[in-house]
Amino acid sequence: MAAAPPTNREIDAFRAQADRFVADLDEEYYLHFAGHKESLEVEVIYERYEELTRLETAQRLAGAPVELWRFACEGYLGNLTREHQEKVATVEAELQATVDGETIPFRMLRVALSNEPDRDRRQRLERARLELTEEHLNPVYLDASRVDREAVHALDAPNYYELYKRFGFRLDELAEECEELLDVTERTWEEVGDRMFRDRLGLGLADARTWDVPRLFRAPEWDVAYPPDAMLPALEATLRDLGIDLRSQENVHLDLESRPAKSPRAFCAPIEVPGRVMLVIQPIGGRDDWEALFHEAGHTEQYAHTSPDLPMEAKRLGDMAVTEGWAMLIQHLVTEPAWLNRRLDVPRVDELARDGAATLLYYVRRYCAKLLYEIEFFQADDAESMKPRYAELLTEALKLPANAANYLADIDGSFYVTGYLRSWAFEAQLRDFLRAEFGNEWFARREAGDLLRELWSLGQGPTADELLRDVTGARLEMAAVGDRIREGLLR
Ligand SMILES: [Zn+2]
Repeated sequence: MAAAPPTNREIDAFRAQADRFVADLDEEYYLHFAGHKESLEVEVIYERYEELTRLETAQRLAGAPVELWRFACEGYLGNLTREHQEKVATVEAELQATVDGETIPFRMLRVALSNEPDRDRRQRLERARLELTEEHLNPVYLDASRVDREAVHALDAPNYYELYKRFGFRLDELAEECEELLDVTERTWEEVGDRMFRDRLGLGLADARTWDVPRLFRAPEWDVAYPPDAMLPALEATLRDLGIDLRSQENVHLDLESRPAKSPRAFCAPIEVPGRVMLVIQPIGGRDDWEALFHEAGHTEQYAHTSPDLPMEAKRLGDMAVTEGWAMLIQHLVTEPAWLNRRLDVPRVDELARDGAATLLYYVRRYCAKLLYEIEFFQADDAESMKPRYAELLTEALKLPANAANYLADIDGSFYVTGYLRSWAFEAQLRDFLRAEFGNEWFARREAGDLLRELWSLGQGPTADELLRDVTGARLEMAAVGDRIREGLLR
């Protein structure tokens, strides 16, 4: 490690460079996934900021604020696998499956699956997706994971898991809470999951397979409640109640145009924080799509309201559970009974709320299992040996047989899984507070909007734990997610 700690001047120079690096990467991701640009060219960007990603930089920054040190280490690792990242994006963009004589782009297979009422054809679509993953993607992922495993040693850590613990990730404590949550919600999932599969697809949880899951959550029976042309007006009205005029926000750019290569899923690209935040949508309609839009709008508003005076690490880095938490808070309005009564003309509000809770239960259990898996994966000497373990943990959590072929593609990297898990706890606890403070229609109260904007201005300076403690006095805990799910299921 470095002999002397980095000087303030060095740290400031790193901040400035890092800020441009992320802006360039976000712009490139935006252009590619919004369908403006066919290829995703991250290599040239890595070359442009070559000195940021050197091993010596990562080693030297060990004495800087931890977020900057982590960024330097991630830059070093990311640079070593930049070709892999490009390759994966290219392969995904170019791959095509042929199912029943029909050609379907790889990235559209999941959408096709979710829209397919015929179960046998769903199985063929899923099989095609898995075959392409095994053949074209897994070799690239596997090679990247070998490169990473070697490279962390140069960062003076025995493995990736230990490295993230040094960054302050409380992986073991969170895993313990997740195991507890898996335990206490196991019977509930067996009952609720079984009922949901029966009601929607006419088969029990024991007979359900992975190719039925996207169809389950697609829930076409709710489409009438969530039409595509009402999505944006509903979002605008919701934000207006909180005191935000979406259309007049000069730093928020709505990309609504339809393009053939545009990602079918809404996303947010915070190219400049807070100066230029892209909210990209291709409205399809349906509950899933509405939730995706509201989720990304939560990210968008947080970044757009972040104070420009904060240091780079508070604007762009920090605890990802914060931005994910704000995204979840807005996303979950879509199945919130009080919001539904106010905003949408739907007759079976309680049913929708129960459905939302059951869906959340599925995802929470899935991510709990993913965390347990990733903790083991990153400590194992041989990545490939973890394939059966992935299937085992995911199958145990979801009670339906997982596909081992996803054992590499299903890893988010940077332990981002902890961001989602803690964001659900943050949302559950903050929602309780907002309801106690402003009533069940908190989302329609200007004062609630004032509080949100004040908290958004802090960016990701404070962690989710710190934010929650400062606002509510409570400790962030996964058990709150269990309580929130139970409440929804009892409606
Ligand atoms: Zn998100």
